[in-house]
Amino acid sequence: KLEKKTKGTPEKQICQVVLDHFEKQYTTELGAAWSSVRDVLTSPWCWQHAVLLNRFSQCPGLESSLAVQGYHPAFPAALPYLPAAFRCYIRRAPGRFPAQKHQAGKLKEYYLLNAASLLPVLALEVKDGEDVLDLCAAPGGKSIAILQCACPGHFHCNEYDDLRSRWLERTIESFIPDPLINLIMVSKLDGRQIGHLKPGLYDKVLVDAPCSNDRSWLFSGDPQQAVLRLMQRKELSSLQFQLLRSAIKALRPGGSLVYSTCTLSRAENSDVISLILDSCRNVIPVDISEMAKGVSQEFTFFSGTRQHELLVLPEKGRAWGPMYIAKLKKIA
Ligand code: SAM
Repeated sequence: KLEKKTKGTPEKQICQVVLDHFEKQYTTELGAAWSSVRDVLTSPWCWQHAVLLNRFSQCPGLESSLAVQGYHPAFPAALPYLPAAFRCYIRRAPGRFPAQKHQAGKLKEYYLLNAASLLPVLALEVKDGEDVLDLCAAPGGKSIAILQCACPGHFHCNEYDDLRSRWLERTIESFIPDPLINLIMVSKLDGRQIGHLKPGLYDKVLVDAPCSNDRSWLFSGDPQQAVLRLMQRKELSSLQFQLLRSAIKALRPGGSLVYSTCTLSRAENSDVISLILDSCRNVIPVDISEMAKGVSQEFTFFSGTRQHELLVLPEKGRAWGPMYIAKLKKIA
């Protein structure tokens, strides 16, 4: 049963055809876990936002103001893969810290996002000097997060869609200062071609793939469009597979990639990764279960995944996700 929205929150209508479809599919795939996930996804008034601080901007007073409002660090400082400069705050209560407007010549102090979006970035473990490709980068949240972790040698951010690519450029300009911005190359290529164009060039590749966006699809304003999207869902798996093949080609031997989506759908998550592992002999799975243990205080994971993959399940008070993450390494 849906709860009542709080006063002042804009009304969002659930798209029944999408909910019915998810109900059937996710009851099969997630079992008992689905009903609490459904409660969060259908209750936008309990959604939460994390605040990722921009290490390139001075923001005096921001951390104390966050603390006053009940925010605390999202990740334990002791995590081995967590760089000191990486500061992200969350709180259990729903709501959103005010967003900052774009101001020419002034860097933004923070980026608001779903905290689970940071897990693919942390799993990538980018080190200073590494050559990094963000294959599907717009609007740029994960590109900005990568640059909070390390200073890559070269950083290639790609986005196929023209409008979204401009959005990506604007995000980068809003967060990254001048000398560093010169290390970043933004391209508008079809990610499926980059492996051919730049074979063996990168130490790390992030494939944050186009996917069924469960959260926003549930609130599709146009039921006909929603039905069409659901019918075309199968094509996404094939696109995701091709993007991954391209990413593997673009990696140097010894390099690694992280694949992520914001859907719960097995066809776009584990099935795509299993197909890659079965068909590409030069990649092996990388165990990311230690990372999951390290962040388990703030994130809920589905218990049915293998060691090289995680599925973040939103729950009340920890409404992060859905987010699927898998890590692979190229061995030759
Ligand atoms: N990584 C982004 C972030 O954190 O802000 C979100 C990426 S979004 C999940 C997936 C993006 O892939 C969309 O912006 C979409 O336009 C883009 N895309 C779709 N098809 C693509 C393709 N063939 N090659 C590259 N990007 C593509």
